[in-house]
Amino acid sequence: MAMTPIRLAIVGLGKIARDQHLGAIEATDGIDLVAVASRNASLENVACFADIHELLASGVEIDAVSLCTPPQGRFEQAKAALEAGKHVMLEKPPGATLSEVFALETLAREKGLSLFATWHSRAAAAVEPARVLIAERTLKSVSVEWKEDVRHWHPGQAWIWEPGGLGVFDPGINALSIVTRIMPETFHLVRSELTFPANRAAPIAASLAFETKSGLPVAAEFDWRQTGPQTWDIRVETEEGTIVLTHGGSRLIVDGEAQIVEEDREYRNLYRDFVALVTKGDSDTDFSPLVHVADAFMLGRRIETEAFED
Ligand code: NAP
Repeated sequence: MAMTPIRLAIVGLGKIARDQHLGAIEATDGIDLVAVASRNASLENVACFADIHELLASGVEIDAVSLCTPPQGRFEQAKAALEAGKHVMLEKPPGATLSEVFALETLAREKGLSLFATWHSRAAAAVEPARVLIAERTLKSVSVEWKEDVRHWHPGQAWIWEPGGLGVFDPGINALSIVTRIMPETFHLVRSELTFPANRAAPIAASLAFETKSGLPVAAEFDWRQTGPQTWDIRVETEEGTIVLTHGGSRLIVDGEAQIVEEDREYRNLYRDFVALVTKGDSDTDFSPLVHVADAFMLGRRIETEAFED
C-alpha cells in the first residue's frame, strides 16, 4: 500500500534550496513540499512564513523540515523542529560545532524522530563504485585537490566568512565526506596549515596531511583562489593502479579509463534516502567529515595573507 507522502517544509530559501532542493523534492516520490520558512523569500502555492518558529506555531501540518540555512543558527532551528515532533534533514555541514550536532542526535533519538545529516557529495555517482573498487585493492596513498573560485560560487555570502561558516572548508568538507566514505580504514590529522585573509575570520586555503590507522598518507589541498578550470579531484594510488574521482565525485577514471560519467542525481538520492529513513524510523548521523574539519582548526598553523574583497 502506498504511504502517505511526508509533508515537508524548507527553511532558508537561498541558493542551494533553489538550485537543488526544490527540483529534487518535486522529482521524489513519497515527499511533498507544503511550506517554506524564509525571512526574505517566498514561493507560490505553498504556505510561507518568516521563520521556523512562525511555521511551527501556525498550525500548518508538516511532518518534516529540511534546513537549507547557513550552519550558524541551524542548531536552534533543528532543536525547535525536533521538539515540535518533526523529522529533520540537515544541509552540510550539519552544524557550526560538534557538540551541537551530537546534542541533536541525542534529541532525535529521545523523541523517536529521524535526523539526516546529509552529505550531498557522498551521493555522487562515482562514490559507491569507487568504495567497492578500493576495498578490492591494496591502498598506497590518497591525495585530494579541491580548488575553486570563491567569487564565482559564493558571491555575497557573508556567513561563509564568519566564525562557523568554515571558509574554504565549506566546499572542502565535501571532499572529506567522500574520502571518509571510500576509505577502508579510518584516518586522522597529523598536520594542518590554514591561510586566512587579513580581513576575514575563516580560511581561504588549507593544506592538510592525514595518516590512516596503518600509516598510509592522505593529503588534501583546499583553495578558494582558483580561477580558470575548477578542480574537485580525489586521486587514490593502489598497488594495482590509480583510481581518480573527478568533478566532485560524479566521474570515475580507473587506470586511465573513464568508467562513470553520470548526470547529477545527488539531491534526488538524498531525498530518496530521507523518505526511506523516515519510513523506517531511522537516522543517519555520520559526523566524521565535521570531526576532521574541527581537527584542522585545532591543529592548524595560521598563515595570514592579503585581505580578500568580494
Ligand atoms: P544562501 O544562499 O546564503 O542561502 C541560505 C538562506 O538561509 C538565505 O537565503 C536566508 O534566507 C536563510 N538564512 C537564515 N538565516 C540566515 C543568516 N543568519 N544568514 C544568512 N542567511 C540566512 O546559502 P546556500 O549557498 O544556499 O547555503 C546554505 C547551506 O547549504 C550551507 O550550509 C551550504 O554549505 C550548503 N550548500 C550550499 C551549496 C551551494 O552551492 N551554494 C551546495 C551544497 C550545500 P532568508 O534571508 O530568506 O531567511
